[in-house]
Amino acid sequence: MGAKSKTKQTFSFDIKLGRNLATSITFTFSMVGRCPVMLEKKVETFNMNRVIDEFEEMTRNADQVQKQTLKEILHKNQSAIYLQNFGINGNTTDPEAFKALVPLVTDLDLEPYIKRMVDGDTSPILTALPVPAISLSSGTSQGRPKFIPFTDELMENTLQLFRTAFAFRNRDFPIDDNGRALQFIFSSKQYISKGGVPVGTATTNVYRNPNFKAGMKSIQSLCCSPDEVIFSPDVHQALYCHLLSGILFRDQVQYVFASFAHGLVHAFRTFEQLWEEIVTDIEDGVLSTRITVPSVRTAMTKLLSGPNPELAETIRTKCMSLSNWYGLIPALFPNAKYVYGIMTGSMEPYVKKLRHYAGELPLVSHDYGSSEGWIAANVRPRLSPEEATFAVVPNLGYFEFLPLSETGETEERPPVGLTEVKIGQEYEVVITNYAGLYRYRLGDVVKIVGFYNKTPQLKFICRRNLILSINIDKNTERDLQMSVESAAKRLAEEKIEVIDFSSHVDVKTEPGHYVIYWEISGETEDDVLQDCCNCLDKGFIDAGYMSSRKCKTIGALELKVVERGTFRKVQEHFLGLGSSAGQFKMPRCVKPSNVKVLQILCDNVVSRFFSTAFE
Ligand code: AMP
Repeated sequence: MGAKSKTKQTFSFDIKLGRNLATSITFTFSMVGRCPVMLEKKVETFNMNRVIDEFEEMTRNADQVQKQTLKEILHKNQSAIYLQNFGINGNTTDPEAFKALVPLVTDLDLEPYIKRMVDGDTSPILTALPVPAISLSSGTSQGRPKFIPFTDELMENTLQLFRTAFAFRNRDFPIDDNGRALQFIFSSKQYISKGGVPVGTATTNVYRNPNFKAGMKSIQSLCCSPDEVIFSPDVHQALYCHLLSGILFRDQVQYVFASFAHGLVHAFRTFEQLWEEIVTDIEDGVLSTRITVPSVRTAMTKLLSGPNPELAETIRTKCMSLSNWYGLIPALFPNAKYVYGIMTGSMEPYVKKLRHYAGELPLVSHDYGSSEGWIAANVRPRLSPEEATFAVVPNLGYFEFLPLSETGETEERPPVGLTEVKIGQEYEVVITNYAGLYRYRLGDVVKIVGFYNKTPQLKFICRRNLILSINIDKNTERDLQMSVESAAKRLAEEKIEVIDFSSHVDVKTEPGHYVIYWEISGETEDDVLQDCCNCLDKGFIDAGYMSSRKCKTIGALELKVVERGTFRKVQEHFLGLGSSAGQFKMPRCVKPSNVKVLQILCDNVVSRFFSTAFE
């Protein structure tokens, strides 16, 4: 931040958005008596080439940038008790010394420290200064959200990453000036912990940050919906209003976004059900009575601004002319250039449906990050979700990579640095950031597929944790996904889709067996579902599983079909625990401790099948 000019009546200063910047906002104030009154807020134009050049420069010098980043992190937090306990002082700048002194940790190791921060202890625990907020990671696989420190630097990183990714996207898919983005974003509740710290999901902390809106505007990504919709306490009402707002701005919409592909599919499935109501609202210029939150009603009524029968008729004709909703997104938004969201990893199961809604529009994979911090940007936006890779951004943190064996076990070898990774090798990501995480194992498995200048290009593989294991069998989230994908092909022959799925290891019976829960889009014969069940069982090709099945030390896989809407109930349960609708990821395996979710699934089973594949 720097004072630019100062006269008797007016003065202005600018704030740079991020450390590597092509954008800044200038505020101009005038003094009225002793009070400054803001006259103007000017957002400097985004300069695509400059952002790309900065990224090129940084990635060419990835090694030096990493060293410098670590040095800055340690310098900034040199008074943190955590670091001092390990003998780190202001003089530690060398990565080797840092690694020799500070151990690798997991979220569980840091939990007690972060809890003290949440409880209001303002001493320098993990960071020199008290953190302004805490993020709640979705943490759905553990059945409970986890706390992560959120700082201004993480916000800066977020804006930097958005700008970088946007620059590369815009080079390939340029969008029009003054366009808008239909963004299905939801800012869940922020609460104040008993220690006085604001706590919310990472996305909530980002959306509520004063720099967010200006940052979005600078990259021509202003939301269609009013802020009241983003901050609505009711996510169902917010989704309805996002859809309605998008249609009101239909000609301006340049791209459609949700953090996760699941959110995009959910939004357009909802549109299929509610479109007539939305069209009626537009036709009459009167908002549906389903919108009851006063602030949202007021904002949306203003946006509707009277009847628009012409637009209503256009949308009605478009919807009626589609075959099974194929190409819905370009039909609604004729100037959209692409659909954007995380489509890799656990979101892959939603890509097929998304492609159906997107028709010919390209699907662009969103970047790679977590509540703990951003890691890598999609700088090759033309690649399909199946091929998508991410280039690590070297100044977002200090990154290490823990080599994993082919079976996904941690090898005895120590983690390697950013520029020392090997192409073809899988690693767990280890992150050190400005927000008090030091050598923190993220739990994600990535594969190095190449280099962008000197920085690795990676593919997201899966969450590290094995999710299905009874004895010698080891199946990850990805293995489950692949098994579901192969079985879903049989269902597709009947023109039925798997809407969502999860799993559970049932060891109450002897021998234990896998249970797969499916919500499907229609009814079919039992023999089709029996085939699917066998297919699921055969779909786990892990040698440990197959041999255990053959010798019956693992029992027959069970497929439980649940009633339509069950997975929505599971989502609602997590939203009630503080997850945000935008950040939500369906737990692919429900642990026995997650009694409530298991109960929702079990209460809604409509039919069950046992595999006969190994008889
Ligand atoms: P959260 O902490 O709730 O924001 O979730 C972060 C997790 O989402 C990461 O640790 C990954 O497991 C997953 N994730 C984030 N970005 C991607 C991506 N581009 N592709 C696949 N999975 C991702």
